[in-house]
Amino acid sequence: MSTIADNIAQVAARIRAAEQAAQRAEHSVRLLAVSKTKPSDAVREAYAAGVHDFGENYLQEALGKQLELADLPLSWHFIGPIQSNKTRAIAENFAWVHSVDRLKIAQRLSEQRPAELPPLNICIQVNVSGEASKSGCTPADLPALVSAISALPRLKLRGLMAIPEPTEDRAAQDAAFATVRDLSKSVQASLNLPLDTLSMGMSHDLESAIAMGATWVRIGTALFGARAPGHQ
Ligand SMILES: *Cc1c(COP(=O)(O)O)cnc(C)c1O
Repeated sequence: MSTIADNIAQVAARIRAAEQAAQRAEHSVRLLAVSKTKPSDAVREAYAAGVHDFGENYLQEALGKQLELADLPLSWHFIGPIQSNKTRAIAENFAWVHSVDRLKIAQRLSEQRPAELPPLNICIQVNVSGEASKSGCTPADLPALVSAISALPRLKLRGLMAIPEPTEDRAAQDAAFATVRDLSKSVQASLNLPLDTLSMGMSHDLESAIAMGATWVRIGTALFGARAPGHQ
């Protein structure tokens, strides 16, 4: 029977193999366990097997789990679409936000980040699949957004996040992730601003993402099993 601990070992082996194939340093890629729709007990099991970082898409669900798991030193990442009326709770209860795609949301997160917490780590979500995806800023809007967000006092801009259109075609996966990597390089060069994070790669395409430079892979299904239909 496959347990969460077994799944974590398998995913860790996939990550290590992909790091080696790309001649990247061991542990240069970090595992973000995407626990959306899964119960607190599943998070507890993953923590016992050595995972500390958990990604959630739905605020109310995430806050409930954070309460139930308050005894554990977990790092929570918000990875879902963000409505303006949710920014305060996100600013107060997460260490990272991967899904910022407009300035208004970033400004609110910065204003609402409590003074006693360290700056909120931010990734800007960029849409590299054109009309196939509604979330994420356009590549054309990225430089201005990077420039404005990097100036906000209570945020720490770390890098870019992307969710390319799913495909089984490895060449198409590589091309999409390479686009994200190249956008990051060009925006860093033109603004003279270092970014250390590429949040890209999910259960089905982590090898390609790691080959193209991912530093966080966001893995749900391969760790916790399939989600119920309608809760993707
Ligand atoms: C659900 C989700 C994931 C995890 O996807 P899997 O295919 O289950 O690994 C990663 N990133 C985001 C933004 C998600 O919404």
